[in-house]
Amino acid sequence: MLGWHYNEDGIYTVKSGYWLGTHLPTNVPLNPTYGNKELKQKIWKTKTPTKLKHFLWRLLSKCLATSNNLKRRHIVSEDQCRRCCSAVETEEHIFFDCPYAKK
Ligand SMILES: [Zn+2]
Repeated sequence: MLGWHYNEDGIYTVKSGYWLGTHLPTNVPLNPTYGNKELKQKIWKTKTPTKLKHFLWRLLSKCLATSNNLKRRHIVSEDQCRRCCSAVETEEHIFFDCPYAKK
């Protein structure tokens, strides 16, 4: 059964998440995020609104709610672009390849 098993009531709290984070064995490998680490670090040094920095970081980390990411996480069953229905909806498709984006 899915649930948070690190406190008594089974409901996630930041406190219990922090506790887990500080008590994990140090030999547990963490999954690295996608994307170029140096480029993502440069995002935080740019003079743009914080909201845009977060968006760019999520774009480079491939964690935007595109259909292919949602399908990979078993949230949706189709990964086609919902606009043009002619390709898989990836970050590249949304911003560069989709006919609607090109217009
Ligand atoms: Zn499209």
